Amino acid sequence: MPSFNSFMPTPKTLMGPGPSDVSERVLAALSRPTIGHLDPEFVGLMDEIKQLLRYAFRTENQITFPISAPGSAGMEACVVNLIEPGDKVVVCINGVFGGRMKDNVERAGGIPIIVDDEWGRPVSIEKVEEALARVPDAVALGFVHAETSTGVRSDAEALCGLAKAQGCLTIVDAVTSLGGIPLKLDEWGVDAVYSGSQKCLSAPPGLSPVSFSNRALEKVRSRKSIVQSWFLDLTLMLGYWDGAGERSYHHTAPINAMYGLHESLVMLSDEGLEAAWSRHREMHLLLEQGLARLGINYLVPAEHRLPQLNSVLIPAHLQNQEAEIRQRLLSEHKLEIGAGLGTLAGKIWRIGLMGHGASRKNIELCLGAMEEVIQGT
Ligand SMILES: *Cc1c(COP(=O)(O)O)cnc(C)c1O
Repeated sequence: MPSFNSFMPTPKTLMGPGPSDVSERVLAALSRPTIGHLDPEFVGLMDEIKQLLRYAFRTENQITFPISAPGSAGMEACVVNLIEPGDKVVVCINGVFGGRMKDNVERAGGIPIIVDDEWGRPVSIEKVEEALARVPDAVALGFVHAETSTGVRSDAEALCGLAKAQGCLTIVDAVTSLGGIPLKLDEWGVDAVYSGSQKCLSAPPGLSPVSFSNRALEKVRSRKSIVQSWFLDLTLMLGYWDGAGERSYHHTAPINAMYGLHESLVMLSDEGLEAAWSRHREMHLLLEQGLARLGINYLVPAEHRLPQLNSVLIPAHLQNQEAEIRQRLLSEHKLEIGAGLGTLAGKIWRIGLMGHGASRKNIELCLGAMEEVIQGT
């Protein structure tokens, strides 16, 4: 065996679709001593994380906690607990992540009814209204609030309103919206929501905050079939995360990752949720002005843009060098931006302004580096 050295990553500025820049404060929290997952001190931390998440999600939902796995597991948890074989689910697809929700519904034995919209445009309220009218026995409506693949915000409040009027549950992907743009579970009537630690919360990847309304819990309790995933079975997870007295062993929580999430949520509550939303918006407008000076325009119409994920059209004369440009940004400027996905590959870049990374410093670095690299091509 050769000898190996400790891994020392070169510091980078992360302005892609996630993970986002992690602050020194969160990195410091991650390195604190590991304690037991049933240690009373850790149980106290879990309770604080739940409270802080209720604040971030704008909800009173008792069942609000982070799943010990990335955002994709949060998506799967919402679907496998709420959807039983034969359940009809209206699923909106206007990018990569809506497509994944459909796959999850199918694997859970549900019947997806698809509402398709163009990538780069929001979910159509009219089409959803029409689909719900056509499928009055739909059990749930699923959609992505902030489509990270395209940089589009859909009108979650209006979509939830339509579902509620029909007594159908809502499953909302808020992986990229939590902490970045207004998200109000109780006011909007969201029933099941999942997010991720590594986007606008700026903690490392690997945790998925979720929240379930009482209506969602009733659906889970009235299931006729067992949840086919042992790990993601809500009732089993709650033995560890909920319960006033005894917490029982379900899995060993990633202790230090929870320190990081907790610290990032403390930072969010110190700043204030509304202030964080405003900061994302202000930084987005600043970046937009700078990009305009470089002749770079947005894919998405202004009123549907996500401040935290700026999907911009690569100028035609640069499209055949787009991978090289990203490579040079990374190697010469230690700056990561995202490529386009699916049909948008080679056509757009995705520039993230998420959480701690939504700062003037990052914007200046990004604009300066892009200008230099583009001029050099
Ligand atoms: C990143 C993302 C996911 C998946 O989260 P992972 O942590 O990568 O599993 C799901 N939905 C959206 C909208 C995302 O941006």
